[in-house]
Amino acid sequence: MAYSFELGPIRPPSEAHSLLIRATRNCPWNRCKFCHTYKGERFQLRSMAEIKQDIETAKLIQDKIKELSWKSGYGGAVKQIAGMILNNPPNEAVYNVALWLYAGGKSAFLQDANSLIMRTNELAEVIRLLRATFPSINRITSYARSKTAAKKKLDELVELREAGLSRLHIGLESGYDPLLQYMDKGVTAAEHIKGGRNVVESGISLCEYVILGLGGKGMWREHTIHTARVLNEIAPDFIRVRTLVVRNKTPLYDEVQNGNFVRGADEEILEEERRLIEHLECQANYVSDHITNLLQEIKGKLPQDKGKMLASIDRFQALLPEERANFRVGRRLGIYRHLDDLSDSRRRQVVEQVAHKLGQGGNQVDDKTIYTLMEGFI
Ligand code: SF4
Repeated sequence: MAYSFELGPIRPPSEAHSLLIRATRNCPWNRCKFCHTYKGERFQLRSMAEIKQDIETAKLIQDKIKELSWKSGYGGAVKQIAGMILNNPPNEAVYNVALWLYAGGKSAFLQDANSLIMRTNELAEVIRLLRATFPSINRITSYARSKTAAKKKLDELVELREAGLSRLHIGLESGYDPLLQYMDKGVTAAEHIKGGRNVVESGISLCEYVILGLGGKGMWREHTIHTARVLNEIAPDFIRVRTLVVRNKTPLYDEVQNGNFVRGADEEILEEERRLIEHLECQANYVSDHITNLLQEIKGKLPQDKGKMLASIDRFQALLPEERANFRVGRRLGIYRHLDDLSDSRRRQVVEQVAHKLGQGGNQVDDKTIYTLMEGFI
């Protein structure tokens, strides 16, 4: 299985089992202070010929897996063969197709940071080709920038929906203009609203991403209030939160080092999340599925599940200080996923032992160590 095709570096957590097709390379903006993903890389539109070739190659890999299934006596069912390939994939592209087939072959994600910047007719052609080549696919999604979505005519977005584009993932990050400006996001709150509303009105599902902690200690209140305000105006289908990480070699890292940006600690960021949820009045699915989030159990449908979501925060805040400290360390070590895991005495003991070591004899682990643990995951 020597076939291969080009892949970009990232996809949203919810697209972990999607077929990945790289429609463009890197990010056309590439200036956000907190973002390391495409730093040093130049944005490029890929030619239609290249994209079509990759789709054809993905099909060849799929066909090969089906052929192996017939030859191995599985009657064309792909799960077993895909599972075997996942244990020892020859390359990333084959791994991606095997994982996608293993999960049912239902969805595709167009990389990289802003596929919407493509000519609308060309993007629509890619989407139609994907649908025609893989009839099992029932969802095609992509990342987009608000600014680009704001510039697209509604007709163009409708054309993309009709071609088969199911959802756009947009990095809102914040709805507070001074913070957007400080982070060099290249978009205003008004543009976020216009871009988001365009997508919603076109009938394409919209997922907006918020970065908890982005305001640091200086702007966290305004960040939450204005982010909720902007989201209330957009009313996206999904609001997904992830927690700020500060990667080496980003401009924000330098700001932290020189003291211009002071990061909030886990418990402060959780209080920020509380205020965000309290101020949200739109109808949306709220999802906290990112590994960086302290409490991944905060999820539900707004507005009806607001009480339940806030209750998860209450539950954490009502813990004894030593339990909260234990949970933070366990969570950042990947030992805990949910608050319920605290009642697992074996796991708790392991966390206590590690916390003792990290705290150099005491059990208090400082924020810097917690950040390092969290950033080790991604
Ligand atoms: S627009 Fe997105 S991908 Fe581009 S630099 Fe900003 S956060 Fe990174």
